Amino acid sequence: MTRLDPPTERECTECGRRDVWDPDRQSWRIRDDASAGSPNCIHDWDINGTYLPIRE
Ligand SMILES: [Zn+2]
Repeated sequence: MTRLDPPTERECTECGRRDVWDPDRQSWRIRDDASAGSPNCIHDWDINGTYLPIRE
C-alpha cells in the first residue's frame, strides 16, 4: 500500500533555515523570523529531494 505523505516541514542542513508548507499558497514559507537562516545560503533541505507535489 502506497500512501503519499508529503513533508510539511523542511530544514536546511547548512544554515538551519526552517520552512513550513503553506497549503493555501501551495508554497514554502519561513516558519518564523528566528528560522530565516542565511540569505546567501544555497540551502540543502533535509527532506527527500525526489519528492514532487502532485498536480491535480
Ligand atoms: Zn540554508
